[in-house]
Amino acid sequence: MKKNMKIAQSFAHVKTDMAQLYTHFQEMHARVAELEENNLRLVSAMSVMGEVVMANQRRQLSSKKVVRKVSFKKRIVASKTGTKVHTESCAYAKNIKAFKKVDFASIAAAKKVGFKACKCLK
Ligand SMILES: [Zn+2]
Repeated sequence: MKKNMKIAQSFAHVKTDMAQLYTHFQEMHARVAELEENNLRLVSAMSVMGEVVMANQRRQLSSKKVVRKVSFKKRIVASKTGTKVHTESCAYAKNIKAFKKVDFASIAAAKKVGFKACKCLK
């Protein structure tokens, strides 16, 4: 009889332990679900941030292009003995000897003194 009581008691202990474990599991499950939700939120926030960063980079790139277009002015050169004005990077311009090279502020300025615009300026 005493032995049975002990067995019953230990079963009862096991039962409460199981119940505690079960609630513990449920809590953990809830916590995991919560973490998963947080994770999802973080991932979507990160992708949104990624898109924002990409958009910013794209904007910066395009604004850089605009700045370059605005600030970059082609150097216009001609040979004192030649008839045409060129950009500095033109193959013809590269052949002009330094002592023969003249700079112009604009194509119009060069045309005013009788030069014609090379293909590279069109
Ligand atoms: Zn040229």
